[in-house]
Amino acid sequence: MSALAPTAASPGPVLVLDDVTKRHPGGVTALDRVSLRVTEGELLAVVGPSGSGKSTLLHIMGTLDRPTTGTVRVGGHDVRTLRDRQLSALRARSLGFVFQHFHLTDGLDATENVATGLLYAGVPRRRRRPLAREALDRVGLAHRHTHLPQQLSGGERQRVAIARALVNRPALVLADEPTGALDAANGTAVLDLLVELNAQGTTIAVITHDRDIAARLPRRVELRDGRITDDVCEVGAV
Ligand code: ADP
Ligand code: MG
Repeated sequence: MSALAPTAASPGPVLVLDDVTKRHPGGVTALDRVSLRVTEGELLAVVGPSGSGKSTLLHIMGTLDRPTTGTVRVGGHDVRTLRDRQLSALRARSLGFVFQHFHLTDGLDATENVATGLLYAGVPRRRRRPLAREALDRVGLAHRHTHLPQQLSGGERQRVAIARALVNRPALVLADEPTGALDAANGTAVLDLLVELNAQGTTIAVITHDRDIAARLPRRVELRDGRITDDVCEVGAV
């Protein structure tokens, strides 16, 4: 596993896509020659209308799916050269995921749900709960450690999911429409939280169809028909 030694000491790109194309079965070209570099410390939006390829891009950025052609590098590792087990290990150590519908497990309390984020990361069992509680504290849920998902509001559930994504301190958090299932107030609060976590050093990519959300983030990558049509970076936008 020496090929997967941490590269955190050298700041730089956490994720690089080079000329990535993805054709789905049936012939749809969901991504067409996409090149994208995400640098440590960034907070970016990938924004585009429904069907523009956002979820496909998220899956490829997250190494959950492989491109048809082109190169994906996570922390300097060319994903193509890794076996499935190595890829799972890299994903568990380097990436955190947040989904629109939270994907929490019903029978587990908040702490246990967050601890599942450490299952494949090689963290010893006795360390998991303390780390999970710490992550819940970071997202403002210190008073909800033992609540079950059904005892939490939508906004709180998404905070649990964010804590689960963060618990292993990944190099990059990928959030797919993280406010899409929330009302306006809770959506704003979740976005505020992501902005705050980024200010504390977490690198985050938010995938969204919502231009108002994208407008709050310092970098916006526009996706249309599977192509990047714009990539705008503003200093001091947050
Ligand atoms: P978005 O998330 O922006 O709505 P998607 O990445 O889901 O876009 O989809 C992009 C295009 O790829 C769409 O035309 C969609 O129908 C197609 N597509 C997505 N996933 C699949 C799949 N598993 N099989 C076939 N076509 C797909
Ligand atoms: Mg989508």
